[in-house]
Amino acid sequence: MIVHQSYAQRFLKKVREGSLTYPLLLSGPQGIGKRSSVIQLAREIWCEADSTKQGCECSSCYQIRQNTFPDLTILTPEGGQNYGVDVIRKLIGTITDMPTYGSVRLVVIDSVEAMTNEASNAFLKCLEEPPSHIRFLLLTSNMSEVIPTIRSRCGLVPFDKLPFDFVRKLVLTLTQDESTVDTYVRMGAGSAGRSLRYAINNTLMVRDQVLTILENSSKKQILRCFSALEDTDASPELLFDLLEQLAGDLIKVAVGAGTLTHADQKDTLKALAQTKDLAFWYSWYHEIESIMRSNGAPKLQIKYLISQLAKSV
Ligand SMILES: [Zn+2]
Repeated sequence: MIVHQSYAQRFLKKVREGSLTYPLLLSGPQGIGKRSSVIQLAREIWCEADSTKQGCECSSCYQIRQNTFPDLTILTPEGGQNYGVDVIRKLIGTITDMPTYGSVRLVVIDSVEAMTNEASNAFLKCLEEPPSHIRFLLLTSNMSEVIPTIRSRCGLVPFDKLPFDFVRKLVLTLTQDESTVDTYVRMGAGSAGRSLRYAINNTLMVRDQVLTILENSSKKQILRCFSALEDTDASPELLFDLLEQLAGDLIKVAVGAGTLTHADQKDTLKALAQTKDLAFWYSWYHEIESIMRSNGAPKLQIKYLISQLAKSV
């Protein structure tokens, strides 16, 4: 059941009814319901029993869940890699196949921004004039990285942030600790998937370790704390997210405005913000953002970002 996405649902309904045939680009943060909306659309088109029923056992719903339904193709980048031209050529090779069950085939490309230049060029030709039975649904969590030529050929369908209370109820099913729930909800910034992932990974424990590192000003201490952090099994992606959020909060504290994501650590953040000037926090924030977009060795990059705090003491 998809909730709180009435704008996007209007578009998907038109695809289901057959009155909308051009490619759609579904955008919004990870974990906001883009992929589940597409799966639900597929079930509404092909379910042989009751598509409103969760866990419907009809043959179509079963195959859709297993990702083996012949008229539904979902591409996902493997291991965080870009789609190479081979993958896209293979897709184009199957696109003229007629539907097995009805009159349409859905082709879903998750993280559509993750294509090599060669792959994008091959895909564009196909996106311009797809066969009449093909419905393209392209998904992205990074709208700014989708190339303009792909964007301009699609109807744009932004997904709304989910309401605070709705996400809060979901997080409460995972953790009973009332003191952490609100922070997890804020960290997700409107994405239920992100909030749940943070809660499952017990991210606030890692956050507190990161704050301890940031609070220690001597280089020696920072490096010692850093090796403690390396012993946790927190993924680099999660650590980057945390650093970005903390840097954002430090800027807010320094300028004295805005709602803190990590409001439960307000005093620590205040003390920390005072150790540097605002310009430092701005440049640190931008550095984190640009490193997150690059493809270097994550552990070294995190070490570098944290050691910057020591260097300028
Ligand atoms: Zn069904």
